[in-house]
Amino acid sequence: MCCKNRLFEDTTLLYYCIFAGMNLEDIAAVKSLLSTPQEIVIIPHKNPDGDAIGSTLALWHYLNDQGHSATIVSPNDYPKFLKWMPGNEQILNFESKNQQAKTALDSAVLIFTLDFNHLGRTGQLEPVLQSSDATFVMIDHHQAPSDYAAVTYSDVTMSSTCEMVYNFIEFLGHRDSITPAMANCLYTGIMTDTGSFKFKSTTSRTHQVVAHLIDKGADNTAIHNKIYDTNSPSRLHLLGCALKNMVILQNYRTAYITLSQEELDKFNYQKGDTEGFVNYGLTLEGIRFAVIFIENSEEGIIKISFRSEGDFSVNQFARKHFNGGGHDNASGGKSDLPLTETAVHFVSLLEQYKEQLNA
Ligand code: 5GP
Ligand code: MN
Repeated sequence: MCCKNRLFEDTTLLYYCIFAGMNLEDIAAVKSLLSTPQEIVIIPHKNPDGDAIGSTLALWHYLNDQGHSATIVSPNDYPKFLKWMPGNEQILNFESKNQQAKTALDSAVLIFTLDFNHLGRTGQLEPVLQSSDATFVMIDHHQAPSDYAAVTYSDVTMSSTCEMVYNFIEFLGHRDSITPAMANCLYTGIMTDTGSFKFKSTTSRTHQVVAHLIDKGADNTAIHNKIYDTNSPSRLHLLGCALKNMVILQNYRTAYITLSQEELDKFNYQKGDTEGFVNYGLTLEGIRFAVIFIENSEEGIIKISFRSEGDFSVNQFARKHFNGGGHDNASGGKSDLPLTETAVHFVSLLEQYKEQLNA
């Protein structure tokens, strides 16, 4: 259907449209929605990561540059290593700037939701979004999107929501209007969501996009340093503790880590400090399934990250057993059981996946 539509004459654009999964009716609808200046709110998921902050900020710059009045409302706080991105100081944290955020949401005609696909991923913001009269536009690359949005640009083959925001801007005919600020934000999200361009989701197109972003002013070396070279001694000590706690189950090709609240406190845990810890399990030869369980006393839950190599879908695993979801090789979930019981329960589930994990 997409390629038969004659709305666009540019064949390059059509080519990307077919592969990027946004149909031309939706593009026309978005163009119409944005044809006059609008009050817009942009929302990332709770505990936003580099892709969530990078994509919302890039879209925020784009929409404001186009004459709209856009505001980003984040459900909660996020790590310090993401707070250097241009426009960061304008993000309203729904927890600490609640009234300002509510005012922005009340007057929003359009709400863009980025890097998630069901409203339950926005924590305390969920009821506010559920009762909003605004028109929703979703841009996201996770599996199984729900249907709350008038326009759903969902593509699970995409490396990142940032790559999709790049496509989105391109669909609207404004690729050349990408500013250095937008380029830096988009580059950051693509880099973090692809594990620095190494995950399976990284395509030649992803590299073409980041090449263009560098041409548009993304400072790739500086971005890498700002994201990855900001360790504190306590974070490295916490990593040491996590690695010491790692349990390796060779017969299930699985490695898991636990971190208790007491351990987090002992090493002066700051938001974002455990980012990337789960990946160490996969660096072990023969290990295909890596997990980290992190106790959060304040929320009374165990937050879990799952990673896999190959065909074992951690998205399905998280969805089925831990009230979560995500991607085939990277997902998350939670448990209401205490930390040790959660780990015991997890191990008890592995027997039914033994063949799959050893295939
Ligand atoms: P992380 O383990 O880095 O927090 O998340 C890995 C991936 O799974 C990300 O794409 C993230 O959005 C998704 N994810 C993390 N936690 C949850 C969750 O509780 N529910 C769902 N549906 N997705 C999650
Ligand atoms: Mn993402």
